[in-house]
Amino acid sequence: MEFRKRYKELIALALFATGGALLPGQSAQPSGPPSVPSIKDRLDAMMAGGKSAWTSEQIKTMEHLRTQAISDTYALDELRHLTDNIGPRLSGSPQAQQAVDYVAAEMRALGAEVTLEKATVPHWVRGVEKGELISWAGQTPGTTQKVVLTALGGSVATPPEGLSAEVVVVDNWEQLHALAPDAVKGKILLFNHKFDKELAAQGDGLNAYVGGVVYRGAGPIAAAAAGAVAVLVRSVGGADFRLPHTGMTQYAPGVAKIPAAAVTAEDADLLKDLTSQGPVKLHLTLTPQTLPDAQSYNVIADWKGTEHPEQVVVVSGHLDSWDLGTGAIDDGAGVVVSMQTLHLLKELGIHPRRTVRFVAWMSEEEGSEGAAAYMVDHNNEISNHVGAIESDLGADHPAGIYYAGKGELGQWLRPVSQVLDAIGAETLVSTPETGEDIAGLTAKGVPSFAPVQDSRFYFNYHHTAADTFDKIDPKHLNENAAVMAVLAYALADSQEPAPR
Ligand SMILES: [Zn+2]
Repeated sequence: MEFRKRYKELIALALFATGGALLPGQSAQPSGPPSVPSIKDRLDAMMAGGKSAWTSEQIKTMEHLRTQAISDTYALDELRHLTDNIGPRLSGSPQAQQAVDYVAAEMRALGAEVTLEKATVPHWVRGVEKGELISWAGQTPGTTQKVVLTALGGSVATPPEGLSAEVVVVDNWEQLHALAPDAVKGKILLFNHKFDKELAAQGDGLNAYVGGVVYRGAGPIAAAAAGAVAVLVRSVGGADFRLPHTGMTQYAPGVAKIPAAAVTAEDADLLKDLTSQGPVKLHLTLTPQTLPDAQSYNVIADWKGTEHPEQVVVVSGHLDSWDLGTGAIDDGAGVVVSMQTLHLLKELGIHPRRTVRFVAWMSEEEGSEGAAAYMVDHNNEISNHVGAIESDLGADHPAGIYYAGKGELGQWLRPVSQVLDAIGAETLVSTPETGEDIAGLTAKGVPSFAPVQDSRFYFNYHHTAADTFDKIDPKHLNENAAVMAVLAYALADSQEPAPR
């Protein structure tokens, strides 16, 4: 996941803070935390006893879907194949194409109507990535010291033999701003912003991430503007296992593109300590390549509606992943819990009145090119989209449903949340953003939704080599599948479409 919109706004703020101009079309107001309905609102909603959008027969179908999702191993088996057999699915890679073909075949096997919709995607490949201290206070003569790092997505390369430069460390934009004009010139600048572990521990991993990711995104621009020859950022993540976290970075027109890497939290601390004692020199080698853009696809699979086949409910996750791990929590899990929705409809012989459209989005991590292509290709059908769901915050226990759109959606969904109460997923939380790939639909007024996933641990592994199949708790994965299936059915079979 990237949550680019919020992150772009923060980058704009960061550029503003460092003396740059706001990016065109960007607001200076970051989105606030999700607003939780007051106790009074929730009590009112529960007591209202208004007309439900679903009959008791339909509620029974939701219960059936929930129960079946909890016991079925389809999502887990599909995830095992995507991660262990196919592996990392970086945009433009052969594995991404293999995943497209595999998921399309699986959906065809269920009897869904499958279309591959073209998207042109970036094709960046990682090369050698190596950091070593070559000079520092107290150095044992003749030795070097390893720095654990990984190139940021989209980074340009150093010369093949690497570059050597002194390291300057700042904790934030303000410290950069306070440096003497030439302090960073010809040097490697490290942004040492610490991930807010306490915020993540309280359950708000997403905002802890957004607080740090702005340095990953805007760091190269700010560093190059200050004259740096390369930039390092402290990994945006919560665990202390000396794991570097990759992720997309940004360059700006008119500002030099400099090599960019994430160092582990431990190595950021090391550099901070040593630079406080005297000059520190680092040798940095990064040899990524940006190849010509590649042709790729979103996988679309329609479970056709019986009454209004033209009306669509999107249920989705993104199929591409970073390359360090195998993309289990980000976002193989989102893809397979969405696949599970169609699988359960088939298994239970359920044919809602509207079309349930599974979408496996391509290239969310590197710019959401798949989602952008969808918005162009389906521009004339947006009003027929009655709802959109995306799961892209891992696979831990879902506490309920995020919704974006009309305020009354919360009350409208009460009967659905009562069905999900049995698996502890009964909360309904209003939010401005539900998922990066469905942000375009949300902006056009399509009611959109996401599971409220427990994000306390997600950012420990996010975008690292440790994002692997073993991180998936099968019970939690199935709870997410239940939320996706029940909600998708509810949206596709309600008497009237969801309020918009
Ligand atoms: Zn993701």
